[in-house]
Amino acid sequence: MALIVQKFGGSSVSDAESIKRVAKRIVDTRRAGNDVVVAVSAMGDTTDDLLDLANAVSPIPAPRELDMLLTAGERISMALLAMAIKGMGHEALSFTGSQAGMITDATHGAARIVDVTPKRVRAALDQGAVAIVAGFQGFNRHTGDITTLGRGGSDTTAVALAAALRADVCEIYTDVDGIFTSDPRVVPQAKKIDFITNEEMLELAASGAKVLYIRAVEYARRHGVKLHVRSSFNSNEGTIVYNPEDGIPNGGNVEEPIITGIATDTGEAKVTVVGVPDIPGKAAEIFEIVAKTNANIDMIVQNVSEAATGRTDISFTLPSGDGARVIGALEAERASVEFLSLQYDDQIGKLAVVGAGMRTNAGVSAKIFRSLFEAGINIEMISTSEIRISVVTRADSLNEAARVLHTAFGLDGDEVAVVHAGTGR
Ligand code: ADP
Ligand code: ASP
Ligand code: MG
Repeated sequence: MALIVQKFGGSSVSDAESIKRVAKRIVDTRRAGNDVVVAVSAMGDTTDDLLDLANAVSPIPAPRELDMLLTAGERISMALLAMAIKGMGHEALSFTGSQAGMITDATHGAARIVDVTPKRVRAALDQGAVAIVAGFQGFNRHTGDITTLGRGGSDTTAVALAAALRADVCEIYTDVDGIFTSDPRVVPQAKKIDFITNEEMLELAASGAKVLYIRAVEYARRHGVKLHVRSSFNSNEGTIVYNPEDGIPNGGNVEEPIITGIATDTGEAKVTVVGVPDIPGKAAEIFEIVAKTNANIDMIVQNVSEAATGRTDISFTLPSGDGARVIGALEAERASVEFLSLQYDDQIGKLAVVGAGMRTNAGVSAKIFRSLFEAGINIEMISTSEIRISVVTRADSLNEAARVLHTAFGLDGDEVAVVHAGTGR
């Protein structure tokens, strides 16, 4: 008998019919003789709708209350799913994050899991029931408060449960057939990948491929959890995320192209600090101010200073949700840092080309720059890691940039990829 953790995303449980469809799938897995633990997201766009409501009543919703509100979404779907399973004649019990032992730090909106004590989940399995756990939520022991794990965090709930229960596999069910060479909503010719290394998946997730939440991929890597991403709308094989240190899956028969995938992200903005005195210590001052706001900055570019003025410009990118906070913090210190002005631009797009084959193949960046030039797309910023090259473009040329590079690196498939549901919101 295997222990399987199954996670169903919001688009897989968007209405009563979908919940019944998912319940049937869970019951089938149970009938095949497996123990099943389920992590479930809020229905459809519920989380976004709740966020809109919060913003409608308060310009800056209190983080503790926002977490209280958002966790209501998963409470609805977990109870409905348990009812649907019981309606099919099987035992099921739903649990909130705190009932399931998801212990986190106290950071509202982006809490980290510090311990998982799934006693009640175990007990439910021992009684022969399916355990349904609300995704995305946890509990802090010191404050006694409810937390959330960050957008997309139900993936982390599933992986953390799989690790704590030593599950045989963690299956992530979503609205596409697996992990593709690019977001099929952006690049219709994207191809499904059968096997992907966790290292490449981490880079794609960090660069905006929201099919898996980055913290879930990290957690799975650290705890040796086997991840299987697949569609809840059919029984196609999906994608296995593997750790190359554990050996190559499929009897070593895994394709290793130079470029594995391309991710796009429209959620970033660019801040330019104009006219910074070009003397030692100024970058430190600026980024210490930014660090205090807890914003996650990504690319940084410092221009050559102008000899006449002895001043330079420093630009960096960050999630646009952090923009107002960072601008406010920098503006408050303008006199002490002695920069001239600030520019804020949220009409940028970020694109990342990812592939472990880059380590041993020269010319990838040249090909990216040439292809974008030939398509008339201007590059505003560049950054690289060992297996990734990222560029910033105008937001309105981002999708075309992704399609151009997808073709240039020979990633196009013969069919148009199917997105089964969801608004992609
Ligand atoms: P869920 O509600 O199941 O958590 P998400 O919307 O979070 O689903 O993630 C699935 C979506 O991720 C897909 O519909 C697709 O648009 C998007 N996506 C982005 N990059 C990729 C990729 N490389 N492969 C597959 N899907 C991707
Ligand atoms: N419902 C949460 C969100 O929309 C968590 C998740 O779906 O993973 O971000
Ligand atoms: Mg998701």
